[in-house]
Amino acid sequence: TAPILKIKNLTTSFATPNGIIRAVDNASLELGQGETLAVVGESGCGKTVLSLSIMGLIPDPPGRITEGQVVYQNQDLVQMTDKQMQKIRGNHLSMIFQEPMTSLNPVFKIGDQIGETLRLHKGLDQHEAEQAAIEALILVGIPNPQKRVNSFPHELSGGMRQRVMIAMALACNPEILIADEPTTALDVTIQAQILRLLDDMKKKMNGSIMLITHDLGVVARVASRVAVMYAGQLVECSNIYDLFKEPLHPYTQGLLASVPILGSRLELTPIPGNVPALNNLPEGCRFHPRCKFAFDKCKQQEPQLISKEGREIRCWLHA
Ligand code: SF4
Repeated sequence: TAPILKIKNLTTSFATPNGIIRAVDNASLELGQGETLAVVGESGCGKTVLSLSIMGLIPDPPGRITEGQVVYQNQDLVQMTDKQMQKIRGNHLSMIFQEPMTSLNPVFKIGDQIGETLRLHKGLDQHEAEQAAIEALILVGIPNPQKRVNSFPHELSGGMRQRVMIAMALACNPEILIADEPTTALDVTIQAQILRLLDDMKKKMNGSIMLITHDLGVVARVASRVAVMYAGQLVECSNIYDLFKEPLHPYTQGLLASVPILGSRLELTPIPGNVPALNNLPEGCRFHPRCKFAFDKCKQQEPQLISKEGREIRCWLHA
């Protein structure tokens, strides 16, 4: 599919007491029209910073996009002013977060919060916004929406709050939804419902989703393509079938080996060691201290991301 969003050589840096770190380091990635792309990796790999960079939500200071572009409709979002980005957010690009309680305002009724988005972006009046909020709640499967518009966030369950967040994010029909760990705080049954809902909504709106997650079980359910990040870099990018059938990067292999398989009694094999601190990266391949295939070259030279049979991989074994 044609790309709707192109991330080109994006680097996002943060000033820390221990020096400048590159939380996202030279990332290039495309999101196709109608596609669900999963960005996976352990916490601290840069996946959330990547999504906030796309949304123009990096807190400056201490963070800043220091290189690269995010191209949407032939415009570079990185070069836009805050005011221009506000227009893009909500109308074209929307984001949902892991914990809706922190993103929903506890003192406003949920109908008002959805309505506010609509008034702001679509110029609806009070009555129209309330009607549209009810419709949005119906769309995301909230029972009794006429009553629910008057509920406060704490009166809803975690799953219902995440539905409200999805309703808010999708109220203005954005083309792109970035979902950052949207189901992590929910129990397994509700997780499945929310993932199904996201998929249904994407189809209805013919939109694209970038799903940020550490959970390969979630990826397997909804994504068509996967980008794997490690220590700020993309290390593998592939369609879902090839990735699960034959992961090329040793880190991806490790991630897959640590996914519980339903009903199986297999022992999980976590990847040994820890993600390196970004201000103290190892020489050569950033994964080498944890890689069971590491050889001399891995410790000295950093592998580049190369294309191989329609996939992308950063590993000397495949160079
Ligand atoms: Fe392992 Fe070397 Fe490949 Fe890095 S480059 S993942 S250390 S084999």
